[in-house]
Amino acid sequence: MAKNPVKTTSVHLTDEQLLILDQKCDSKIQTEIDNAKARIKAVKKYPNLEPHLAKLLADILVHAKKEQKLIFRDTTTHHCAVCQRGKGFFARKEDRPLLAIELEHSFVTIKNHISVGGCRKCVMAIIEPLKKELAKLKVELPEQLAGPVTYKRYEKVRCTKCRWNGHEGEMGLKPTFFGDGTYRATCPNCHSENSFGVGPIIRNKKEYVVVKEKAISANAGQMAINR
Ligand SMILES: [Zn+2]
Ligand SMILES: [Zn+2]
Repeated sequence: MAKNPVKTTSVHLTDEQLLILDQKCDSKIQTEIDNAKARIKAVKKYPNLEPHLAKLLADILVHAKKEQKLIFRDTTTHHCAVCQRGKGFFARKEDRPLLAIELEHSFVTIKNHISVGGCRKCVMAIIEPLKKELAKLKVELPEQLAGPVTYKRYEKVRCTKCRWNGHEGEMGLKPTFFGDGTYRATCPNCHSENSFGVGPIIRNKKEYVVVKEKAISANAGQMAINR
């Protein structure tokens, strides 16, 4: 038997209903309430956007602030939870899936499922205000969303040999086994490196840091002009 058997109930609440629970529940539910507040605020802030699109904008910004990294991946879905297109979809052969865009940086891709984003129509409808808001944040962005200043998210690491603390972007580069590129492998302080067979000397900390990227694209443009 469970240690502390408490009966719970799952319900679907609107953003306005969630507000009634503000400051009355545990932190997990409070996070949902805070997200609802952000959506309600966005609807007021963007009167020119349809409410469901303003809410999508708010959801993306909440996610961007939390994860500090977004992607922009073309995918498909049978149902857009933002505009409700394709709702009640039956798997008929003639029903083509909707083109969609996923913004959550994640290693797991579930077919026909969007985590953060929506159908292409919905995401493209907010792309300009979204880019404007994202430009105010320190977030690693794909080129479709990036502004003039770009950031990169790195995982924090520490060297167990010399106790150096830093992030992956500061580690020394080594050529890959096949010689087709380089990867971050060495401690910049004591030059220890991770190698197969030995436990990792430079360990990942599952924490992240977001740093301003060097203006690579601007320099590349300059070189093209000089040529
Ligand atoms: Zn949609
Ligand atoms: Zn070291």
